[in-house]
Amino acid sequence: MTEKFKITFKRLTRALGILNVLFGIAAAGYFLLSLGGYFHISGQVFILWFSFYSVSNAFFIFYFCLFENEKLRVQLERKVEERTVELSKKIVDAYNLRKALLNLAEDLDLAKKVIEEENSKNKTLLESIGEGVVVVGHDSEILLINKAAREMLDLNPYETIGSVFSESFALADENEKELADEELPVSRVLSQKTTVSTTIGHPYYFVNKKGSKLPVTLVAAPVYFGKEVIGAIIVFRDITEESKLDRAKTEFVSLASHQLRTPLSTINWYTEMLIDGDVGKVSREQVKYLNEIFKANRHMVELVDALLNVARLETGTMVVEPKMADVSELIQSALAEQKAEIVKKKLKVETNLDKNIPPMNIDPNLFRIILQNLLSNAAKYTSEGGIITLSAVIKKSGEKFGGRGLEENSLCVSIADTGWGIPQEQQEKIFSKFFRGDNVRLKYTEGTGLGLYIVYSVLEKLQGQIWFHSEENKGSTFYLTIPATGMRKIEGTMALT
Ligand code: ADP
Repeated sequence: MTEKFKITFKRLTRALGILNVLFGIAAAGYFLLSLGGYFHISGQVFILWFSFYSVSNAFFIFYFCLFENEKLRVQLERKVEERTVELSKKIVDAYNLRKALLNLAEDLDLAKKVIEEENSKNKTLLESIGEGVVVVGHDSEILLINKAAREMLDLNPYETIGSVFSESFALADENEKELADEELPVSRVLSQKTTVSTTIGHPYYFVNKKGSKLPVTLVAAPVYFGKEVIGAIIVFRDITEESKLDRAKTEFVSLASHQLRTPLSTINWYTEMLIDGDVGKVSREQVKYLNEIFKANRHMVELVDALLNVARLETGTMVVEPKMADVSELIQSALAEQKAEIVKKKLKVETNLDKNIPPMNIDPNLFRIILQNLLSNAAKYTSEGGIITLSAVIKKSGEKFGGRGLEENSLCVSIADTGWGIPQEQQEKIFSKFFRGDNVRLKYTEGTGLGLYIVYSVLEKLQGQIWFHSEENKGSTFYLTIPATGMRKIEGTMALT
């Protein structure tokens, strides 16, 4: 239907409407007048009016059907259109969402592949490492174990994951004594959150079910998730060959030292006899030279003794024979041994020995060796007129000593001097074998560099600790602790001298 027709039709309907109303009013007038007898309405006029009325009504109905329906249709169409737009928007959104999800899935797939690749790389890497690597959870259950570890520990690859690490074998310390559960490196790492390590000189032994022992050096460290320790990683290396070599070297040193000890004692003895004039008169000049021989020989004896002690410590043949002893008395007697040097150098000695130290289960010989080394160092490396301060006290677990918190009730001994100190850059080497500080090497040529190594190794075997603070040209303080429960007996074959 054209627009023009619609407008014409609308106008016509409107005009007919008006005429219809006018005719209606006129008809009503006629009707009323005819009722009053004023006017008589003829049948033709009525028919004419009625026809006209019907036609105009027909127009109205047609108009209504045509235009109102059209209006409704248009409204409906508009709504349909709106809904269609809405729906297409939703379809587009859904399409975009699907696309985004597909992209996400693709990304995830890619990330998964990268992770899988990384995983397989790490696994290959881990499997090909010669060192044994084991990762355990917080209940010591094995989460990961590589081929080298399985082979070294003789473990079945299918039964190990999930089993408790220490269940399949035992671990023994350097003295080949089996460690209790709480002493195991993994237990210590998990409970104390510290790293535990062993060295070639002090290996651990894995003992498998068949009883065979495997010497290893190991490092056990905590695995953190944020600040929480969620497990431990243990890396260990089979050191059978290195141990054999080390043992052979130590045995050689031990043998050579033994062989040297006898002739040196002979020289010592005969030089003393010559100096004393036991075999005839010697001139003053001769005494001077004999004294030099005697001094040099004594240095050789000290060196040989130290080497023998090192050999005994490293071959694990050192005896520990604790007995109830008065700690203060042992300290006083170790101090008396240094009297000659102290008097010669006019050193002042201050002692703070707590009267409440109870008798302790201590190997007096080992305690003397430890104190004698530390006191002789304090005396040797302090200039004339310096001060040596010696203190001993029992402290409780958790209390501070020498800047550290104590892990258990301990006998705490400190030896401080106002001497030459240890150069800052060399301090980390101080407990290693043959170390001598650059600042003392020329001033005091007779040192062996073995004393502190021996002290450290002995204390390690006795569950004791040693550390120090030192500043060059100001002095040093050495701190040592021994568990208040005393020393544990070790059935070695040789005592240190
Ligand atoms: P030695 O005294 O025979 O050289 P030690 O092992 O006892 O061997 O000591 C190693 C080195 O540590 C010494 O040579 C010295 O450099 C340094 N040292 C040890 N104690 C002290 C001290 N109290 N003051 C300064 N230096 C020290």
